[in-house]
Amino acid sequence: MLTFNNRTALVTGAGRGIGRAIAETLARQGVSVICVSKSSDSCGAAAAAITQAGGKARALAVDVSDGAAVARAAEALLGEIPVIDILVNNAGITRDGLLFRMSDADWNDVIATNLSSCFHWTKHLARPMTRARWGRIVNITSVSGILGNPGQANYSAAKAGMIGLTKALAREFASRGVTVNAVAPGFIKTDMTSEFVAKLELAARILEAVPLKRFGEPADIAGMCAFLCSEESGYITGQVFTVDGGMAM
Ligand code: NAP
Repeated sequence: MLTFNNRTALVTGAGRGIGRAIAETLARQGVSVICVSKSSDSCGAAAAAITQAGGKARALAVDVSDGAAVARAAEALLGEIPVIDILVNNAGITRDGLLFRMSDADWNDVIATNLSSCFHWTKHLARPMTRARWGRIVNITSVSGILGNPGQANYSAAKAGMIGLTKALAREFASRGVTVNAVAPGFIKTDMTSEFVAKLELAARILEAVPLKRFGEPADIAGMCAFLCSEESGYITGQVFTVDGGMAM
């Protein structure tokens, strides 16, 4: 059991996949969770499932790629809850393609959703954390941001950018008791990867590069993330934790 002292967390992309597993894991530990996703159906279902299981959650539909929308949402939340103690920047998309065929829109959407969203949410939610002298920020990056991935120039750049952001902010906030870390998942079974997992030949080829010889589950990421959000991780900041079955070692 980790220690959380009735904290409040905001998890982006909590409607499905990894984000939902993170929201559920935190809620099981007594954290009140604000589940953010693009569609109200998706975050609504996640929050309802948590509440039904006896946890505390609410849903908030926000397009995290829209800085003004994030600012409005954050201002409204902070009017009600003075400090959101834990921020998990998890929302993400892929728009894959080789560079010569990548459109400006595919580049911009991926940067805005995966990277700029972290800047906007952190800018608004971290100030009260620094005043309270306690906070946890976890950015969900990817092994693509560490190794680079052909066909994913936009995504790899966004995820590498999240690592730089994590390290810079870890230094900015360290004296205020706010830690900033990143988790880099490998190949995790979610809607994002369902296309690859379904193609047997492709799945077998991917698994050749995974020493533990299985795809990860959202719970594998949620466990690491929950630890980094807990009291127990208070002496860890500016780090990137790869959870990938040994792929990037
Ligand atoms: P997923 O199953 O596709 O779920 C993505 C979540 O992000 C959804 O809840 C979606 O909202 C939300 N989202 C997307 N765009 C958004 C926007 N503009 N505004 C608000 N919410 C938005 O993805 P996942 O596989 O769980 O991935 C979660 C994170 O882990 C991503 O950052 C991804 O890059 C990273 N990651 C995943 C893997 C993997 O193998 N799956 C590997 C490395 C890193 P809706 O539900 O409303 O659509």
